[in-house]
Amino acid sequence: MAAPSETRPIRHPEKAHRPDQPVKRKPAWIRVKAPVSREYQATRRIVRDNNLHTVCEEAACPNIGECWEKRHATMMIMGGVCTRACAFCNVATGKPGALDPFEPTNVARAVADLGLEHVVVTSVDRDDLEDGGAEHFAQTIRAIREATPGTTIEVLTPDFLRKEGALEVVVEARPDVFNHNLETVPRLYPEVRPGARYFHSLRLLDRVKEVDPAMFTKSGLMVGLGEARDEVLQVMDDQRSAGVDFLTIGQYLQPTPKHHVIDRFVTPVEFKQYETQALGKGFLLVSATPLTRSSYHAGEDFARLRAAREARLAAS
Ligand code: SF4
Repeated sequence: MAAPSETRPIRHPEKAHRPDQPVKRKPAWIRVKAPVSREYQATRRIVRDNNLHTVCEEAACPNIGECWEKRHATMMIMGGVCTRACAFCNVATGKPGALDPFEPTNVARAVADLGLEHVVVTSVDRDDLEDGGAEHFAQTIRAIREATPGTTIEVLTPDFLRKEGALEVVVEARPDVFNHNLETVPRLYPEVRPGARYFHSLRLLDRVKEVDPAMFTKSGLMVGLGEARDEVLQVMDDQRSAGVDFLTIGQYLQPTPKHHVIDRFVTPVEFKQYETQALGKGFLLVSATPLTRSSYHAGEDFARLRAAREARLAAS
């Protein structure tokens, strides 16, 4: 089948003029599995055959060797070109092409071929579309439901900034988990996530619970970008006040010398402390390790999330 259609002469045109920031050497506690197994190759073939993008590849995720060996690929819909230019992200930036009307069914076929019990569907930002791509998300959810009704679905959405009614379209398609990442502390938004607004993202998570109080919500942070510990704790409080159920925290890794520099590597002990503090603040589930990513172990974590809610309800 044809390769994805966009031409991408420069992957990050907005970053090309920036001075190089040396990429720090990873500490001993960040070690990943090489992407070489036969199962990895099988996953890659299914992704290619269905003409799909994955965030695993586009974001240069360090966990791809481990996840794809288990056939866990995270689908990235609406093309491989993003309209934002976040300083941490390796996804290409530019003017995206038209939506592929066959993509929802292609995603559904890939989910069936991969035999996924739980799938994460994310997307590039599509500020160029009137609804930010909300209807395309909804179509993808419906196509997966039709093809593999037993698969649970997690969406990791853009912020739908200035896209009135978009969030509601996605929630009404009834994914099992609605994830939207705050990514970093509000002070660092202008340099890390300049096209986004912290309080808009927070309000988005809050609004999901207003529309469907039973829907699980999830939100992630990267650390090592220059945030202070107290700022992270404040973000946790903000997330809890928006009713977020599941918090993920992982180490930021710099994809290229043109991306935001790593301020420092947060130690495994500090991650453990974040986990303990977050659980104390009332999250149902917390994943806080150096290699935690939004979709890392998402299927197993969804089962734990459900069990945690049931246990809390039984205890109340
Ligand atoms: S952690 Fe998520 S993005 Fe990374 S390889 Fe695994 S499924 Fe893909």
